Amino acid sequence: MDIKDIAQRVSAGERRALARAITLVESGRADHRARAADLLAALPQDRQALRIGLSGTPGVGKSTFIESFGMMLIRQGLRVAVLAVDPSSSRSGGSILGDKTRMDLLSREANAFIRPSPSQTHLGGVARRTREAVRLCEAAGFDVVLIETVGVGQSETVVAEMSDLFLLLLAPAGGDELQGVKRGIMEMADIILVNKADGDLKPAAVRTQADYTGALRLLRKRAQDPDGYPLAMAVSALQENGLEDAWKSMKTLVDWRRSEGFWERTRAAQARYWFEEDVKQRLLAQLQGAEARAALAELSDRVAAGTADPSAAAQAFVEGLGR
Ligand code: GDP
Repeated sequence: MDIKDIAQRVSAGERRALARAITLVESGRADHRARAADLLAALPQDRQALRIGLSGTPGVGKSTFIESFGMMLIRQGLRVAVLAVDPSSSRSGGSILGDKTRMDLLSREANAFIRPSPSQTHLGGVARRTREAVRLCEAAGFDVVLIETVGVGQSETVVAEMSDLFLLLLAPAGGDELQGVKRGIMEMADIILVNKADGDLKPAAVRTQADYTGALRLLRKRAQDPDGYPLAMAVSALQENGLEDAWKSMKTLVDWRRSEGFWERTRAAQARYWFEEDVKQRLLAQLQGAEARAALAELSDRVAAGTADPSAAAQAFVEGLGR
C-alpha cells in the first residue's frame, strides 16, 4: 500500500491502518525506516492528544487502572489509545500488555486501541518506536494516549519525555516507610495515585496518600505547576473510586499548563530531545556497522603499534564516518 494511502487511512481513524502503520515504525529494516519517516511526515500535524505517562511496579494495578480509567473516558465520548514501553519484554518472554485479556472490556471497545510494547531489549529502540506510535495515535484522532511502563528505573524518564502528564501508581504502604520510591521518580510525577484504597487496604491507602502529600510538599516547586501540584490521591481502580476526581485534577493541571504556555514549551523541548536522541541512535548504528568496525580495528592497531596518535586517529575516524 502506498504511504499516502496509509496516512490517509490513519487520519481517518481506521484502527487496522493504525496497527499496520505502527508495525511499520517498529520495523528495524532500512527500507521500512525510510517508509516510516515518509509516513510520519505525511500525517496531519495539527492534532494533539493528551499524552499520559503511567508508571508503577508490577502488581500495583496498572492494567486494572487503565481498564477502569479508560472505560470511564470512553463513556465520556473520548477515544483512548494505550501503548507501552517495556525494554525487558523480550528478555522475560512476555511483554506488558501482551496479554490483552488484562484489559478485557477496553480491548473490545471500538473507541479504544491497545498496543503491546515492541519487543526489544534496547530501551532507546523501544522509546523511539513508542514515540512514533504516539504520533500515529494522535494523527488517528485519539483524544487520550496512555503510555504505560513498569517501574524499573530508566524507562520512566523515557516515558516522561513523551508525556504531557506523568502519573505514578503506588500501592498502600504496610508500615510508615515511603516504600523506597526513588526521589528522582517522585520528582517526575505530576499526580501520585495510591491505588487499592478499598476494603481492608483503605486505611493504609489513605495514610500513604497523606505521607506522599507531605513528601511532595518538600520537593522544589516546579515552574510548570500551579499551586497544589504535584498532588497525591487515593483511588481504587478495582472499585472505580476516585477516578473521576483524578481525571478532574489532570484536566485542571493541563488547562493551567496550556494557558500559561507550558504545554507548548514542554512539547518543543521534548521534540528537541527526541531529535538529539535520534541523531545519537543513528551515529551509534553507524558505529556498529561492518565498515566502521573495520576502520576502527585498523586505526586501533595503528595506535597500539605507535604509528598513529590516538587523538589524530580518532579525528580521522569520526571524519570518515559520514562518508
Ligand atoms: P499491574 O501488574 O500493575 O498491571 O497490576 P494489575 O492491574 O494486574 O493488578 C495486580 C493485582 O492487584 C490484581 O490481582 C488486581 O485485581 C489487584 N488490584 C488492582 N487494582 C486494585 C484495587 O484498586 N483494589 C484492590 N483491592 N486490588 C486491586
